[in-house]
Amino acid sequence: MKIVLLGKQGCGKGTQAKELAKESGFPHISTGDLLRNVSGPLKKEVDSYMLNGKLVPDELIIKLLKERLAQKDAKQGFILDGFPRTAEQAKELDKITKIDKVIEIFISDKEAMNRLSGRFNCKKCGAIFNVNTSPRPKESGICDFCGSEIYQRADDKEEAIKQRLKIYNEESKQLLHYYGKKVITIEGEQDINQVKEDLLKQLF
Ligand code: AMP
Repeated sequence: MKIVLLGKQGCGKGTQAKELAKESGFPHISTGDLLRNVSGPLKKEVDSYMLNGKLVPDELIIKLLKERLAQKDAKQGFILDGFPRTAEQAKELDKITKIDKVIEIFISDKEAMNRLSGRFNCKKCGAIFNVNTSPRPKESGICDFCGSEIYQRADDKEEAIKQRLKIYNEESKQLLHYYGKKVITIEGEQDINQVKEDLLKQLF
């Protein structure tokens, strides 16, 4: 099962993709994570886009994605999170492989801003917390699970969030149009377990 998860930043794509990966055994592939893991000479270029909330050039992200999708664990299926972001990227993805399901998790801009500006990630184990919503860390600045420091991503600062939402809203119009009736929309502002239940109902 090859699944694309769409939705603006903060809609819960990453969290739900991780859950789906656990349930299905397919890998969760996040292009944001692929880019954050870039090292060496490319890192400076990648950061210059990411830190300002801008999309990195298609050529670069498509190359990274192709390499990841060619790995053995992604052959039978995957849960793609963060790609495609534009109709052009969706066309490129269709050239690489056939997508079975396209799911959009919908939340308003106001909700996205509230969630993202409170989001903190653990430096070590990757756990995600939210000081505006939940789960709040039990101890301020510390991961509940491994005790390491939690930090706010540079692109989760207010100005970068505004820029990312603006880009998302502009680009997603054409993207959703490209996928047309294939898109299944799920209400993302309900309880996190209900979102998961709705997703599983649509997929399996
Ligand atoms: P995310 O973790 O999905 O919010 O992505 C974080 C950042 O990575 C974005 O703001 C972009 O700078 C970059 N990025 C992730 N996916 C893509 C993509 N499909 N195309 C271009 N840039 C991307």
